[in-house]
Amino acid sequence: MKLNEIGIREAAVITRVGGEGALRQHFLDMGLIPGAEVSIIKYAPLGDPVEILLHGYELTLRLEDAAKIEVTALKEPAARTAKEKQNQKIEHPGLGEEGGKFHPEGSIKALPKGTKLSFALVGNQNSGKTTLFNRLTGANQHVGNFPGVTVERKDGSIQGYKGTTITDLPGIYSMSPYSTEEVVSRDFVINGKPDAIINIVDATNIERNLYLTMQLLELDIPMVVALNMMDEVTANGGSVDVNAMESLLGVPVVAISAAKNEGVAELIDHALHVASYNEKPFRQDFCDVNDAGGAVHRSLHAVAHLIEDHAKSIGLPVRFAASKVIEGDSLIVSKLKLDQNEMEMMEHIILQMEAERGLDRSAAMADMRYAFIKKVSKEAVIKPKESREQRHSEKIDCFLTGKYSAIPAFVFIMGIIFWLTFGVVGAWLQELLEGAIDSISGYADALMTAVHVNQVIHGLIIDGIFTGVGSVLSFLPIIVTLFFFLSILEDSGYMARVAFFMDKLLRQIGLSGRSIVPMLIGFGCTVPAVMSTRTLPSERDRKMTILLTPFMSCTAKVPIYAFFIAAFFPENGWLIMTGLYFLGIAIAIIVAFLLKGTFFRGEAAPFVLELPNYRMPTAKNVFQLLWEKARDFLSRAFSVILIATIVVWFLKSFDSHFNLVEDSENSILALISGIFVPVMQPIGLGDWRICTSLISGFMAKESVVATMTTLFGDNVSSVLNTVSAATLLVFSLLYTPCVAAVASIRRELGRKWACGVVIWQCVIAWIAALFVRGLFILFNL
Ligand code: GDP
Ligand code: MG
Repeated sequence: MKLNEIGIREAAVITRVGGEGALRQHFLDMGLIPGAEVSIIKYAPLGDPVEILLHGYELTLRLEDAAKIEVTALKEPAARTAKEKQNQKIEHPGLGEEGGKFHPEGSIKALPKGTKLSFALVGNQNSGKTTLFNRLTGANQHVGNFPGVTVERKDGSIQGYKGTTITDLPGIYSMSPYSTEEVVSRDFVINGKPDAIINIVDATNIERNLYLTMQLLELDIPMVVALNMMDEVTANGGSVDVNAMESLLGVPVVAISAAKNEGVAELIDHALHVASYNEKPFRQDFCDVNDAGGAVHRSLHAVAHLIEDHAKSIGLPVRFAASKVIEGDSLIVSKLKLDQNEMEMMEHIILQMEAERGLDRSAAMADMRYAFIKKVSKEAVIKPKESREQRHSEKIDCFLTGKYSAIPAFVFIMGIIFWLTFGVVGAWLQELLEGAIDSISGYADALMTAVHVNQVIHGLIIDGIFTGVGSVLSFLPIIVTLFFFLSILEDSGYMARVAFFMDKLLRQIGLSGRSIVPMLIGFGCTVPAVMSTRTLPSERDRKMTILLTPFMSCTAKVPIYAFFIAAFFPENGWLIMTGLYFLGIAIAIIVAFLLKGTFFRGEAAPFVLELPNYRMPTAKNVFQLLWEKARDFLSRAFSVILIATIVVWFLKSFDSHFNLVEDSENSILALISGIFVPVMQPIGLGDWRICTSLISGFMAKESVVATMTTLFGDNVSSVLNTVSAATLLVFSLLYTPCVAAVASIRRELGRKWACGVVIWQCVIAWIAALFVRGLFILFNL
C-alpha cells in the first residue's frame, strides 16, 4: 500500500521509501524512514498536496511523491503524543568544573586568554535561530514563522563579550543540503571552522531536530545544544531531563526560550566555556552494536578505519567523512581521493551492510540516527500532551485550509488587507500627512518671500524639494500599513498554508507552492522577494520565480496609482487600484506559461514543506519591521528621490548654455528626454515630461510622482486625458523594476538575466499599454 492511499486520520508504518537522489535523501532526513509511523491529517482543498503527521510534526508532500512511499496500515491512529513519565524538576548542574564537564582535569588545554571566539548558530528552519541571534547580539534581524526566512549568513558579536563573533545561518535539516541557502550553512560549518557550534533545537519538535544534532556532533567541533521554545513545552505539561540528555549526547544542553529571554545567559556561559576550553563532543559514536544486528555499526567503523588517513590529511573529521561516504555523498568521496582498491573495498563493505540490514545505505544511516534519537527521547523527554498551539492550529486550519473555505478565505484576507490599506487606515493617515506637508511648505514659501531669498533657490526649495519629495513622503502611511499586514501574514504562519493549498494551482504554470511566498513578499518590495527565492530547492523554480516577482505590484508604485487615480478616475479609485494588482498577476501568469514552454521546460520541484503551528506575531517583531521599512522609505526619499528631484529641477530650469529658461520646453531636460518621445508616441505618452518621469522612476518608483509634480505642478490634466492616464498606469505597473530590484536580480541570476529583465519588462509594458489604448479607443471610453 502507498502513503497516498490511506485515508484521513488513518495511520500507517512506512515500509519502503522510493524515489531517488537528493529528493530521497531529503525524505529520509525529514524522518520518512522505514519503521516510522505516519498518519494523514488532510488533503489540500484542491486534493493535492497532502498533510501528514510524522514524529510529532506536520509535513506536506505532493501525492505523486507520497506514492513513492510504501506503508502498511495500522489499526490505531498514531497518538500525537503519549504521557509516559511524571514531570518533575531536576537541578541542572551548570558548567563543568575545571577542565570541563566531560573531560578529566588536565586532559585538554584551554585556548589562551583573549583569543577571539567564533560561534555558528546552526539549527532546523524555523527553530528560532534568528530570535536567539537578536537576543545574543542585540541585532534586529527579520524573524518570521515560515521555514526559510533567513537566506544569508549574518554576523554579530555577543553583547557584553567583545571578542566574540556569532553567525546566524539559514536553517538546515541535515548535512546533505537540499536548497541553495542550505549549502551556505553546510559550507560555513565544515570550512569556516567556528570555535564552537550553538545548535538550536526546537524542543516542541525534538525528534526531527535532533537528527541534525547527531550529524553536527560527528564534526568534532565543540558544541552546545540550546533547547529552544521550552516555554511552549512546559506550558503544555512536557519537560526535558537536561542531565540525561547531556550524558547521552555528550555535550552541554541548556533549556531556553529565545522569545522570552529565558536561559539565554546560561547558554552564553556554556558556549564560551566549550569554545575557550575547546571541549569537543564527548561522544560521536551513536551506532549501536545491538541495533538491528549491528550491521550499520560494523560498516561504519570499518569504513572509518579505511579512510582515516585520507580524512585526516584533508582535515575532515573521520566519523563525519565515514557517514557521508556511506550515504554516497559524491562531494566528500571525491575530496577523500581514495585509491581504486579502497573504493572497491568500501563498496563491498557497504553492500554487505545493505544485505545484512535489509535497507539501502541512505535509509540504513537515517534509521540508525533515528533509532538513537528514539532512545534519547525515551530517556530524557516527557512529551507534552497535545499542545495548546497544536489544538489552536488545527482549529484555525479547519477553516483556513478547509476544502471549500481555503481559497475564498485567502481572497477575502487579501481583499481586506488591500481595502484597509488603501481605503481606510492608509488613506486617512495620508490625508493628515499631506495637510501637514502642505502647510509647512506654505510657511516656508511665505518666509522665503518675506526675506527675499534668491529666485532660483526659492524655486528649487519650493517646486523642487517640497513639491517633489513632499508628494512622495505623504505615502509613508500607506506603505507602512501594507507592510504591517504582510508581516502579520508571515509571522503568524499563514504563508506556509498558502503555499500548501496553492501548490496545485501553481503547478499549472510550472511552479511549486513555495513560489507563492516570494510573490506575496513582492507586493511589499521586490528586493526582499527576490532574496527570499533562495529557499526554493530547485534552480529552475528559483529562476522562474525571480523573473515573475517584478510583476507583483510593489508598494513604491502605490504613489503613482494614487496620484493618477485621484486626478482622472476619482469615482472608481478602489476598483482601479485592485484591477492593476490583478493585471500584474494576470500578466505574470501569461509570462509563466511562456517561460514554461520555452526557457524552463520540465516539472516543478517536489513540494516538501513543514507546516509550523500558528503563532501570535510578537509586537516587538512587527514594530521593528515597520520601523525598518519606514526608515528605508525615508532614507530613499531623502537620498535617491531628493537627488533625482534636484537634478530634474536643475535640468528643466536651464538650457544647454546654462541660462535660466522661461519655458522649460527649451531646457536641457526637454532636449534629452525628447529622444524617447517617438517611442512613447504610439502609446499616447509622447511628452518629454512624462518620459522624464518614467526615467526617474528607474531610480525609485516613487520618483515618477515627484518628477511629475515638479514638472507639471498642478496641471497634469492639461497634457494627459483619461486614455493616456490609463495607459500610463499600465505602463508604470509593468515596466522595468527599479535599480535596487534589478541589482538584486543581478546578484541572483547574473548580468545577462538582469539586462534581459529590464528590456523585456519594458517591451511587455509597451505592448500592454498599446493594447489598453486600443481597447479604450475601440470602445470609445
Ligand atoms: P529561524 O527560522 O530559525 O531563524 O527562526 P525565527 O527566529 O525566525 O523564529 C521562528 C518562529 O519561532 C517565530 O515565529 C518566533 O517568534 C518563534 N520563536 C522563536 N523562539 C521562540 C521561543 O523561545 N518560544 C516561542 N514560543 N516561540 C519562539
Ligand atoms: Mg532565521
